[in-house]
Amino acid sequence: MAKELTDTFLDQGKRRRMCDMLERNNKIEDQNVLAAMRSVPRHWFIDPTRRATAYDDYAIEIGCDQTISRPSTVAAQSQLLALQKGMKVLEIGTGSGYQTAVLCTMGAEVYTIERQAGLYHKTRALLNALHYKAKCYLGDGYKGMVGVDYGPFDRVLITCGAPFVPEALMNQLKVGGIMVIPVGDQQQEMKRIIKTGEGPEEREEQSFGIYRFVPMLDGRQFS
Ligand code: SAH
Repeated sequence: MAKELTDTFLDQGKRRRMCDMLERNNKIEDQNVLAAMRSVPRHWFIDPTRRATAYDDYAIEIGCDQTISRPSTVAAQSQLLALQKGMKVLEIGTGSGYQTAVLCTMGAEVYTIERQAGLYHKTRALLNALHYKAKCYLGDGYKGMVGVDYGPFDRVLITCGAPFVPEALMNQLKVGGIMVIPVGDQQQEMKRIIKTGEGPEEREEQSFGIYRFVPMLDGRQFS
């Protein structure tokens, strides 16, 4: 195993403290979320030079102008999903793969889409090497899964700031399913949308505060 993929007692201790903080200060009560975040080494998903700060509550640059989300944001989004083991989850914005690994550890069957080729190749290789069984796709998250029929999904999670709720993604969500999506331009409102029927009006929406994500980019900027 490469040197940077070790997990020392120091790392584990910091991770435990991080999860204690999430439970105490960020109202994270879902024990499945806390257990997963206690177990997934976040420092494996960032540049080794940033290891010392891997368990502080900050977003960290991961290249290609993107960031790994703050632990409190990963915890909040994971909790809002109200995930049960075995559920099929579509994630938009693979990025570092950390959120993907947390969802896999929570027992989900994860399909994840990234639009940047550099991140897609690097993260897919990392998740494979670490034996997380997520299925990674290079594509445009506004369209969701195209050409392969893995849907509909129990849950859809968007990990970049969406200017609006993409209809294609609502269509790939099961009736009774939940989408967690940060909506807005400069800053985003975290929304949980429950799909109550097939019609475009048949949804229940709740808001969970303001966050700042990197933008969800559209197809024209696809690289
Ligand atoms: N879940 C990630 C968050 C990464 S930041 C993590 O834990 O590291 C958001 C990611 O969304 C970036 O990697 C960005 O390239 C990606 N992204 C932006 N627009 C997208 C789109 N239209 N489709 C798919 N991915 C997109």
